[in-house]
Amino acid sequence: MRQSQLFTKTRKEASSEEVSRNAELLIRGGFIHKELAGVYSYLPLGLRVLKKIENIIREEMNKVGGQEVLMSSMQPKENWEKTGRWETMTDLYKVSDISGREVALGPTHEEIVVPILKNYVSSYKNFPKNSSLAIYQIQNKFRMELRAKSGILRGREFMMKDMYSFHTSAEDFEKFYEKMKEIYKTIFDRVGIGHLTYLTFASGGTFSKYSHEFQTITSLGEDTIYIDEASGTALNKEVLNDEVLIQFHLIKEKLVEHKSIEVGNIFDLKTKYSKPFDLSFTDDQEQKHPVLMGCYGIGLSRLMGTVVEVLSDDKGIIWPESIAPFQVHLLALGEDKEVKEQAGKVYESLERNNIEVLFDDREGISAGEKFADADLLGMPYRVVVSERSLKEKGVEIKKRNEEKGKIISFKELLAQIAPKALSI
Ligand code: ATP
Ligand code: MG
Repeated sequence: MRQSQLFTKTRKEASSEEVSRNAELLIRGGFIHKELAGVYSYLPLGLRVLKKIENIIREEMNKVGGQEVLMSSMQPKENWEKTGRWETMTDLYKVSDISGREVALGPTHEEIVVPILKNYVSSYKNFPKNSSLAIYQIQNKFRMELRAKSGILRGREFMMKDMYSFHTSAEDFEKFYEKMKEIYKTIFDRVGIGHLTYLTFASGGTFSKYSHEFQTITSLGEDTIYIDEASGTALNKEVLNDEVLIQFHLIKEKLVEHKSIEVGNIFDLKTKYSKPFDLSFTDDQEQKHPVLMGCYGIGLSRLMGTVVEVLSDDKGIIWPESIAPFQVHLLALGEDKEVKEQAGKVYESLERNNIEVLFDDREGISAGEKFADADLLGMPYRVVVSERSLKEKGVEIKKRNEEKGKIISFKELLAQIAPKALSI
């Protein structure tokens, strides 16, 4: 894409009320636009990141046999009354229309997915034979968060992947749950924060003893976790008591405290939601049982914000290649005619090789400003065409996380950025 055509522009400052680093950098870069506290629109560059995260998550959910749906955001009040959460869920948005009819704006979808399933499931025969039944969606959620000061880490409207699994036996549930632990690990690795993300034991609330959270270490985090570095075990502060320490064979003095943010979690729901809706199945003896359930969430927008928090420096964002809006930021420096021509050729040729390029072809912008923008926007590779690089018959390439660039030939550039492209 030509940057001269991009409708968003970079800014020197976000606004004074933006206190979180992720929102500051994302707003300055023109990735997102703030509408209200905790409510953001995604602009072209930001949406490209979100879509890449979405695709990674979708690929991994499909690997475990997840079936994708899109459930409604407007949800019947009666469903929420059935589970008791119309009254107890304090962050539920309740909306009424002119006739006085009330609906919930979906903060999560157990109240929708279970009644849907009830239409199709009544016998063990309705479950897949060699895999587990799992349904997921990637969709906006609404929650009346009291503290919405962490940019896209804690939105009042935010993007989530929520999966729900349904089982006829505890063994089947456990097998699937273990698989999901692995898949989540793969997702965080692929997104580029695996090295900072810990599978963390947390209290499971009333219906299960433990749940598992995926916590990424960052100083802005609202959670506190304790890590035993020898074994890699992590515990949420809320669960840290003597009984837990004994159970996990941990010594309190050896645990290291960190601030962290929960990027995902997985839960054993047991029959908490199947019972209120009487979602049940008959076994081969005609005996009726409630369906067992698990749920698995990941906040996509929170994940994007977390990447910005943990992978940035004082100049801007450092996107991992897997989710960068573009792989290459190509800069044409100066007003020299030959530079412009050569840069245009490099751009077209990279595009032909299916490399995603943001081409800074803007006129009347100084080299310093273009460099500053490239650092702020954070594409993995910066490629510069200038009078100097032309003299040396090449382009200057620099990775975002490197200090100095080097001049290489165009052929070498392709070899480095897209090894596969050369064989095409
Ligand atoms: P938290 O304790 O941070 O409020 P939660 O326990 O309410 O999270 P879940 O209801 O389990 O979170 O939601 C699943 C995932 O959705 C979380 O792991 C997190 O990644 C994301 N998430 C939850 N609330 C928000 C929010 N307000 N903004 C952005 N992402 C969120
Ligand atoms: Mg919450």
